[in-house]
Amino acid sequence: PRETPPPPERPKRRRSRRLMVGNVPVGGDAPVSVQSMTTTPTADVNATLQQIAELTASGCQIVRVAVPSQDDADALPAIARKSPIPVIADIHFQPKYVFAAIDAGCAAVRVNPGNIKKFDDKVGEIAKAAKDAGVPIRIGVNAGSLDKRLLAKYGKATPEALVESALWECSLFEEHDFRDIKISVKHHDPPTMIRAYQLLAERCDYPLHLGVTEAGPAFQGTVKSAVAFGALLSQGIGDTIRVSLSAPPKEEVKVGISILESLGLRQRGLEIVSCPACGRAQVDVYKLADRVSAALEGFPVPLRVAVMGCVVNGPGEAREADLGVSSGNGKGQIFVKGEVVKTVPESQIVEALVEEAMRIAEEQGVD
Ligand code: SF4
Repeated sequence: PRETPPPPERPKRRRSRRLMVGNVPVGGDAPVSVQSMTTTPTADVNATLQQIAELTASGCQIVRVAVPSQDDADALPAIARKSPIPVIADIHFQPKYVFAAIDAGCAAVRVNPGNIKKFDDKVGEIAKAAKDAGVPIRIGVNAGSLDKRLLAKYGKATPEALVESALWECSLFEEHDFRDIKISVKHHDPPTMIRAYQLLAERCDYPLHLGVTEAGPAFQGTVKSAVAFGALLSQGIGDTIRVSLSAPPKEEVKVGISILESLGLRQRGLEIVSCPACGRAQVDVYKLADRVSAALEGFPVPLRVAVMGCVVNGPGEAREADLGVSSGNGKGQIFVKGEVVKTVPESQIVEALVEEAMRIAEEQGVD
């Protein structure tokens, strides 16, 4: 039998200082966490809490809400109190909302140094308020709103410009002995963003929040984020991630979780290993894989399920799966750990797989 090669060694995580966003540790040796951002008007407390509940159900660990107006700031206490996951207030332009967010019980505040007028004068007060409340600050530099001084110096949002902006802002906080900071330096172009984070990783030990900004619609944004996060996380860089998509936020969470699972940074829930199909396929593999995926979504134990298009190579190709099916002649051979356990008509394949999956869960003591 074919030997399974040992998995490659996981990349060493960059050593970053650890902070707490509410009850979620970020940095140090904490697992990489997945964030998203609500799209509802923050002032609409019920709609925002409803969306946060959906995000939580899809696996989001930290949520960010935008605070562009006083009405939004006024909604923060109720949202922070009732949200099941830590809430980060995202503040542009108005330092007074930073104080409102800290008072409201938000777990962290994100500020954009390029966008907060007279921010530098207020750093001392903000540092004191944040320190007293135990609230970390994310310094979120964005290519689209880079500090004008740096734009003039570098001509555009280069990796060096993004990093200089972030570290300059950090130095202001450090002057007030405040180091409960995490940093992001987002850019829409993955190579620029990757370089910026690499530079930043060399120059400080703050935890890093990864993001490709304005990544685009679901397909393009997923590819860009997977490429950029994959490059950085496989070098051990990145403590928390947010996939930005022009799509419902729970899609962002799904993609974020999947990226971490693909890199082995998080245990997979359900993994469908389906063959690409070829001239030997005797079943519509794409449809069958979708149906199996839907039937087992949210399964309570990690499960790798193979869906193979023919019996010639099926079980052999999918020996590493927990269970699977290979189809042929209107039938499906159901196999567990590479051994065929039964053969069922094609119409009963999904049902038979679910039955075997339940058996595996039971064996592991999960009902
Ligand atoms: Fe082709 Fe069969 Fe392999 Fe699928 S399992 S790719 S149908 S040979």
